[in-house]
Order: sequence, then structure tokens, then C-alpha cells
Amino acid sequence: MEAGLCGVSPLRDATWQAVLRACRQAHACCRCSAARTPTIAHTLVAQDQRCRRCVAAMGETPPSFLHFSARTERELGTRGASQVWQEVIALARTPGVIDLGQGWPDCLSDDTAKREAAAAILGDADAARNNQYSAADGVPDLKQAIAEYYNALHPSWQVGSTDVLVTTSATEALYCITQAMLDAGDEVICFEPVFPWYAAHVRLAGATLKCVRMQPPHYRLDVDELAAAFSPRTRMVIFNSPHNPTGHVATREEVLGIAALCVQHNILALSDEVYERKTFGGRIETRLRDAPGMAERTLTLGTSSKLLSLTGWRVAWVIAPPALLRGVSSAHSYASFCAPTPLQIGVAAALREHAEAERRSRRTDANMADASAAVFERNAHVLGSALTDVGLVVHPVEGGYFLVADICATGLDAGTYCKELIARARVAAVPMDVFYVATEPPPPTTLVRFAICKSEHTIAAAAAAIRAHPLPLRVT
Ligand code: GLN
Repeated sequence: MEAGLCGVSPLRDATWQAVLRACRQAHACCRCSAARTPTIAHTLVAQDQRCRRCVAAMGETPPSFLHFSARTERELGTRGASQVWQEVIALARTPGVIDLGQGWPDCLSDDTAKREAAAAILGDADAARNNQYSAADGVPDLKQAIAEYYNALHPSWQVGSTDVLVTTSATEALYCITQAMLDAGDEVICFEPVFPWYAAHVRLAGATLKCVRMQPPHYRLDVDELAAAFSPRTRMVIFNSPHNPTGHVATREEVLGIAALCVQHNILALSDEVYERKTFGGRIETRLRDAPGMAERTLTLGTSSKLLSLTGWRVAWVIAPPALLRGVSSAHSYASFCAPTPLQIGVAAALREHAEAERRSRRTDANMADASAAVFERNAHVLGSALTDVGLVVHPVEGGYFLVADICATGLDAGTYCKELIARARVAAVPMDVFYVATEPPPPTTLVRFAICKSEHTIAAAAAAIRAHPLPLRVT
């Protein structure tokens, strides 16, 4: 059977009935592009010609008029990252389970932001329009506060309001950047393990992802490998430091190496710096925007989710020269139009306080750690020693929200381990398979990500549960 008969383009062009007929003739599943591979026992369901795997993924027999996009078909057929994520989150919400899965802080949410947002919601809203749309590119006062905050933190930046676009989360910013800047056939380079949303957004824009793998346990960026990944079609590099999931903080050498290649190939860089204040004792030696030739080609992401521990607010921003922001701003106005107005007002008040604190501290070094970073660093030690005690190998972490452990000694794959960990210790974590896209070389299958962006109490409870319910180790 021809590749794609049941997967990609024919579903777009042919009528559903024609596809069904063709698939019946070919004895193939008309829902998934992986149909009839010998390793998967595809038993076709007579009625609408779906394999068991798709039936399981889709639940009930779909109504005859249901037509998923080719992308959705593929995602459902292969159990993409969004499904795994939803499963993990659902399991983690089971009563009594300690959620070290999704990266959300259960402490330290910013009081000023909450108070000012509440006042904006409950005050004389009709007069102030606080509960209505804001300008698409953000509440002017927030744009000003973001610029002030970054100029206080990084005096060399000297950004103004016109260099700021407020978005409805960093995830939306990423979506809008990829929609605005990429064409079908373009290539984007990412570092793997890769936050699954980068991969999905690049694909949604019709572009192709090329991954440069960071090797455990230190996950250093190999600039030579990066150089080899470039092609004439490369349009953008997506860079993230401190890194999700590994906690690697890029060195000066790594950042300068990436920057030199971006300048040499004259391409854009998306620098996801949402964890920039979460460094553990160490420093951010340099940031992509500060490298020679990069200010004009870098889009930097920041967010109240991580900075103010308000992941549910979905208020984030892009810092870039106005020429780069134009297209992104247009995509953003089509996607969500504007971020929630009263929450933007709350974030503005909090950022003004942070900017003032930065100015008072007269920072002279590059240590960007904030108060929550100290808590998360202690958490890394406490959780890391519990994981080590039960026989796992914990990878070094320099910042961010997560700790990675290799569960190889259990003889399980990461997915099974995470299910077992919930069942026995009532602790949720994320199997890192979803952070690997490239199939060559084969990705590691025994890495697990634990969120450490929690209160010390939560982490102590998780560490105790892990010690009390160790999973058996493989006898060697
Ligand atoms: N950034 C967070 C994480 O990696 C949340 C991601 C999400 O759920 N979209 O866990």
C-alpha cells in the first residue's frame, strides 16, 4: 500500500467514502499513517476501516461526518506528546498523588500581582475597561514595566515598549513566532531532548524540525554537531537555557557558538529564557541576545508563569526589535487577540517591584538566581538523594524546574516506571520519551523527569514516599 494513503494528503483531497473504499481494497487502516506495519497487530474494524490502535486512541466509533485533520490523525495514531502529557496530568491529579509531573509551582506565587489583578477585576471596571480587551500587543503600562524590568536586569539591553509584545502564554508566543516566521519546507534546529511544544509548533507551521542531541548526563551543547545540522533551508534555531527538561545552563562558549552560526547563516534565533531566574548557585554567563550580531535577530521569551509563579495566568512576552515583532504581533492578534487584561495589570505592578529591587541591588554579576531558585536548588538535593538511595542515577542540574533521573537499574522503560511510581509511591513524574523526536540514534528510553518547582514540604513528602516504596531493581 502506498505510504500516506490513509495518512496525509488523500484525506485532504478525496471524499471520505473514496478513502474508505481505497483503504478497504488495500486492507489498510484509513486513520493512521503507520498502518500495516508488521510490528503492530493491525486488526481492521470492518465498519470504517480503522486499526485497533486507532480505535483505542479515538474511543467510540466516530460519526460518519467526522473528519480530523491529517495532523490530528497522525498524532492520535502515534500517541503524540499531547496525549501522553494529558495522561500524565490526569494521573497526577488523582487524589493523594504528589504531582512532580507538569512543571507548576505550588508555592511562592506573587502577592502583588494577585492583589493588583483582583483590584483591577473588582474595581470600577466599566470606567477603566479593566475587564475588557486590552490593546492586542498588551496593556501599555505592562509593556513599559517589562521594558523597565529587563533594562534593570540587563542594563545593556535598553529596550523600549516597542520592543515588547505581550502574549497569552509563552506557548502562544512560540506558536505565533513559528506561524509568523516559517514557511512550509523551512528547517528549524532544536536541541534534543526538546520541549514537545517546539516540535509541534514547528510542524504546525509546515516546517521541518532538525534535532541536535544533547548527551546525558551533562547535556552539553555540541556546537560542531549544530554546525553540521545547518542547511540552506535552515531558518531558525530554538534555544532554551536553563533547559527544560535537563536543567543544563548553557555556557558562554556554547552561547557564542550558537550565535556565530546564526550570524554566519543569517537566520533568526528564538531564545526561550523563561527559566532565567532559576539558576542554582551558578551564573548565566551570557545570553543569546548579548552575543555579537544577535540583538537584531533574537526573539527572547519571558513569562509571568515562571517569574511570578503564576502558570495559570497565561501572561508572557516576546522581546525583539519592532521589525521582527510585526508579523508575530499579527499572528497573536489572530490567535488570541490579547492576554487577559486584569492579569496583565497585576503582572505590571509585580514587575515594577522587581525592577525597583533590581535597581536597588545594583547587580554587578551575572547571577540571576531569585528567591525561588534557592528553594528549587534545595529540592534538587533532597529529591536527588532519595532517588539515588533507591538505585536511580540522578543527572546533574544547574537550573530550571526539573531533575532528570535514569531508571535503567529497574529494568523498566520510563513509561512503565512512571505508572508504577504512581501506583506504589503515589508520586507522578514524566517519562522523557516525549522529549525525543529523532529516531536516529535511538533515543534513551529510561529517562524520567521530576518537577522540583515545589514547596520544600511537597518535595520532602515525595522523597519520603519514594524511599518508602522503592521499585525493585533488576538483578544483574
Ligand atoms: N512547561 C511546563 C512543563 O514542561 C508545562 C508545559 C505544559 O503543560 N504545556 O511541564
